[in-house]
Amino acid sequence: MEASRIQLLRGDITKVAADAIVNAANSSLLGGGGVDGAIHRAGGPSILAECRKIVARQGGCETGEAVITTAGNLLAKYVIHTVGPVWSGGERDEPELLAHCYRNSLLLAQHHGLKTIAFPNISTGVYGFPKTKAAEIAVKTVKEFLAHHALPEQVTFVVFDEENLKLYQKLLPEISQ
Ligand code: ADP
Repeated sequence: MEASRIQLLRGDITKVAADAIVNAANSSLLGGGGVDGAIHRAGGPSILAECRKIVARQGGCETGEAVITTAGNLLAKYVIHTVGPVWSGGERDEPELLAHCYRNSLLLAQHHGLKTIAFPNISTGVYGFPKTKAAEIAVKTVKEFLAHHALPEQVTFVVFDEENLKLYQKLLPEISQ
């Protein structure tokens, strides 16, 4: 069942030993604040070097899309960089674009044969997506994907703040401790 393939963890995603951790990047792929800054800082310069190659090849990353790089010095093997939508009221396809972030990251992981992937709460920091709605979209999109795909085997939602922890615990009562 899908629920047994989902985990909830509170903490710093740079410390998570999954096959891939997902970065809430921006479309330049050249780093930023929040979780993006933390991943580049902890992973070292090889992540940025690969991002630059992707930029040279395809000119960055569109909102809702995802790309994959090395994870440098991190415990994870890969970083999947996805660009969440900036919240501007909800009339600019923000919900659909956020769902695309989760789905495209999962597709990329599957394509690379990855068994485990960890997501931060994409768009809920500086990008201002309402946390309740973002959590609903994240859980629904991941459950739907897992129902139809064998890989990745395990998905971990990594929450950083108390508010997101509460929201995910409520949405995932079957796995809450
Ligand atoms: P965005 O620009 O997509 O909103 P942010 O990095 O500003 O991205 O925030 C996304 C989420 O990541 C927020 O909920 C924030 O609390 C969380 N976050 C920030 N640092 C970390 C970290 N080291 N590990 C996990 N989550 C983090």
